[in-house]
Amino acid sequence: MNRLDCRQLLPHLESHLRGDASEELRLLADDHLARCTSCRRRLAHLKQVTAMLAAWRPMPAPPGLKTETAAALGPDLGRLAREVFPRRPFLGRRRRERLRPPAPMTGYQRVATWLVIAALLFLGAAIAYRILQQWM
Ligand SMILES: [Zn+2]
Repeated sequence: MNRLDCRQLLPHLESHLRGDASEELRLLADDHLARCTSCRRRLAHLKQVTAMLAAWRPMPAPPGLKTETAAALGPDLGRLAREVFPRRPFLGRRRRERLRPPAPMTGYQRVATWLVIAALLFLGAAIAYRILQQWM
């Protein structure tokens, strides 16, 4: 690899920025970046985004948010909670669903089942034949 084009450099821009690219790749990337304005711009954007992400901190919720929300919702809070967290169906119905008979086998499943049974019978016969051969 003598020189990188933009498409070849793109997947390595991040490791180049972190400084953990191999020496060969670093030289090739530096060579390309010296010649290519658009890749230098990409690298600058990547630097900016990386710095922004490193500086990001989760914002704490404003004090009183929980109580103010509960007060604003008032009597609707219970109904809203039931909509968001509906009750589970009672055990009787769930048990009935579990006891539903399995779906009938498709033609392919039936053929596969018979092939497995035939293979097991053949294997058993072959083993029995080998054992009988040793005894005689
Ligand atoms: Zn480029």
